[in-house]
Amino acid sequence: MIKTVKGCKDIYGEDIEYFRKAEKVMRDTARAFGFREIIPPVIEYSELFQRSVGKDTDIVEKEMYTFTDKGGRSITLRPEMTASVARAYVEHHFETLPSPVKLFYIGPCFRYERPQKGRYREFYQFGVEVLGDESPLLDAEVISLAYRISEKSGIKGLKVRLNSIGCKKCRPHYKEVLREALKPHYEELCDDCKRRFYTNPLRILDCKREKKELKESLPKITDYLCEECKSHFEKVQNYLKLMDIPFELDNSLVRGLDYYTKTVFEVVSEDLGAQNALLGGGRYDYLIEELGGRHTPGLGFAIGMERFVEVLKAQSKIIEKETSIYIAYQDSTLKAALDIASNLRDKGFTVLVDSKGGSFGKQLSRSGKRNSDFTVIVGEDELKKGTVQLKDMRKKEQKEVKVEKIIEELMSNES
Ligand SMILES: [Zn+2]
Ligand SMILES: [Zn+2]
Repeated sequence: MIKTVKGCKDIYGEDIEYFRKAEKVMRDTARAFGFREIIPPVIEYSELFQRSVGKDTDIVEKEMYTFTDKGGRSITLRPEMTASVARAYVEHHFETLPSPVKLFYIGPCFRYERPQKGRYREFYQFGVEVLGDESPLLDAEVISLAYRISEKSGIKGLKVRLNSIGCKKCRPHYKEVLREALKPHYEELCDDCKRRFYTNPLRILDCKREKKELKESLPKITDYLCEECKSHFEKVQNYLKLMDIPFELDNSLVRGLDYYTKTVFEVVSEDLGAQNALLGGGRYDYLIEELGGRHTPGLGFAIGMERFVEVLKAQSKIIEKETSIYIAYQDSTLKAALDIASNLRDKGFTVLVDSKGGSFGKQLSRSGKRNSDFTVIVGEDELKKGTVQLKDMRKKEQKEVKVEKIIEELMSNES
């Protein structure tokens, strides 16, 4: 038997209902905030991710699905989508559009990670990007969009974790300060952090293997921000207060990717424990430059759909079931049965027409196995009178209804 590729999964049954519901909330809310959709290709030139995500990241170092195509080009299955959106911005001259440009996306991404619970090698991301504007009001707006999406989806105990990781002017100095403070503890660090000590010591702050006491004793980046970053960060916080978005400052929040600047944030559900973020994002004012465009500030966030759906399932039972109807008939009433099915489908009902035939008893039993809400029994004798039998499968009640009154009758039974 051929199975799914290791680390991949089929999404079906109850999961797909939650997935599509979450997706709808995300799309609708993003559109309400003025975002428009973009669908980039699944494959990109490998160089895009080396330059954007950064060479010294786990993603680029270990986790990319990279191959050489038949033309000898190095191609990568995208490990995330921000780089693709930034590439599209430069390639299609979005800088000529009214600024800021607000885009959202949803689609599969690929990372060759060790499969574990809730982590897949193919996973779906929804995300938004705002490009071409450095106003801190947009930071607050993007955070509020992330918060509202989680709230509208029905996730409880929401909180925003917020930090600033500075800019090209102030971060290098902080990195030096951090290295100095870490030097006496170098031998205690995990192997990855020993390397990060030289390459990117900020990432030691969010390493789960380092001791909490050590991390808390380290100098805080917010004490080393330049005037511009400091004022930007204060404004973001003030705007969040105006928008009634609850947040708390967290100095250990640095995000894994190299391209972030200034604001970084996560939305967490308290029910999940502190380590577990629902989504994360931040500002990336140099990314477009890295890709060869002119200086273009940007920011955004991404949601891992699998994790989001998992949390949604654990916390809410709010999938509205459509009224489902089963149609039973006799050979002589097939035409009428099909017409009834067609009318009901036009009205938005989920309709199954029996395909195996036989006695009404057998057809009703199949309707029961399908958990139908109602069965419409189209019998020859009733049809002559212009009626059908309508059976409420839950209440086990049956009554004779005029064909043209079926919908009216179903509507009165809903709610
Ligand atoms: Zn700065
Ligand atoms: Zn570590």
